[in-house]
Amino acid sequence: MSMCQNESSCVACCGTLNLRLRAEQLRDLLSERTSQCPDAGRADHASLVAYRSAREEIEASLERYDATVYVCPFVGWIEEGRAGCLIHPLRTGRPNSQNASFYGTTICQSYDCRAKEKEANKEEAERHGSKGWQTMALHIAEGDALVYTRIIGDAMFYRLVEAIGDTASVLKAAPALMERLVRLRLCQDCGPTSFEIPGHSKPTVDDLIPVLFREEDRPTAARMAAEAIDAVGRSSTM
Ligand code: SF4
Ligand code: SF4
Repeated sequence: MSMCQNESSCVACCGTLNLRLRAEQLRDLLSERTSQCPDAGRADHASLVAYRSAREEIEASLERYDATVYVCPFVGWIEEGRAGCLIHPLRTGRPNSQNASFYGTTICQSYDCRAKEKEANKEEAERHGSKGWQTMALHIAEGDALVYTRIIGDAMFYRLVEAIGDTASVLKAAPALMERLVRLRLCQDCGPTSFEIPGHSKPTVDDLIPVLFREEDRPTAARMAAEAIDAVGRSSTM
């Protein structure tokens, strides 16, 4: 199971959501990259590197949420409505074609966000079944790749779910509540990233609410999180 490519697709770890653009501007940007990328990503290494430099320069003036998060210009439309890596080996037929990128093949091929790492684990996936994080993201996104990306690739929000309780238990005990919480998160003006805070740190719900929600939404988010914690507690005693 891959959370990167499903009925929808996720490109959060490649930085595009770090650009402070509205959804339609992001879609236009992906279209522009796809048409400008030589041979839609299937060109030779030198041409792809030249494209990357040119695009980085063009996009340098775009406002970002976090200046330290790199934005890879190889995210484009790999098919209609499906965002993805234009230079992925499956498209280019060359195992190392992602070496034209800033991160390079090794990182591009090996990176897993926390949600993917957890739910790609076979046992974990079976336990989550139809109540998994991915299922919920697909349901809310309704085929919109950027919405799916904003949910799946939002590492800090995933941490909040984990702070509420075991992900599968939370989604099973309080699915409607969690859906409302996700929708509230989607309304925040932010550039969610899949990059993780250290795995050993254990932020609490109280730590995360101020990070994830604007001031006026925090009481609602905190109330929903508290209700979800209660629901998990009740379901575990049943
Ligand atoms: S954020 Fe996770 S699910 Fe999304 S592309 Fe990266 S590894 Fe895949
Ligand atoms: S080259 Fe790497 S960082 Fe860029 S879009 Fe592809 S997978 Fe993401």
